[in-house]
Amino acid sequence: MSTTPKAVEVPSAPTKKTIPGIREYRFPVWDIDMSTCIGRAFKEDSKDKRWKPHIFRESQCGRQLVAGSDLCLFCTTRKEKADEADTDVAKAKLQWNGLITEEPPTWTHMLGTAWAEKSNPVFTAEEDPTAAEIDELCVSLGAAHAEIADLRDMLAAKDAENAELLAKLAYIKLAFL
Ligand SMILES: [Zn+2]
Repeated sequence: MSTTPKAVEVPSAPTKKTIPGIREYRFPVWDIDMSTCIGRAFKEDSKDKRWKPHIFRESQCGRQLVAGSDLCLFCTTRKEKADEADTDVAKAKLQWNGLITEEPPTWTHMLGTAWAEKSNPVFTAEEDPTAAEIDELCVSLGAAHAEIADLRDMLAAKDAENAELLAKLAYIKLAFL
């Protein structure tokens, strides 16, 4: 009934995406519009959660300028508050992340900053598996379950055999010793 179990084939993991670098989170210089606010902004989908801790992708604020300034009213207020804050953590909380025309400040949650050096973000995510890869995994899992069931049967058969041998041994002891 039971055969020698074959080695269970473990499917290879989905290929890891190339880990994105600093440049992939920067806003293209040629897209900067100097006629609007040049505050660095993090838009809704700018948080890359594949990193632990999360990394942001920058974009330009782009709101209407305050006359005589290169910032909008919103960014001006945030900058003023951040300028008054005395720690990087406090500045980060105020969500002022400098100008898109300059390097991100030390507290900004982007790659290459002092914050990143301290927090050492790790790229954890793998590319989402395709439907075909999921199917393949399910088939492999099914095969593995079948192998385990076979092994269980083998063990049960061995147990029964052992029990029989022990009974025989007990009988021999009783009869002859
Ligand atoms: Zn702005």
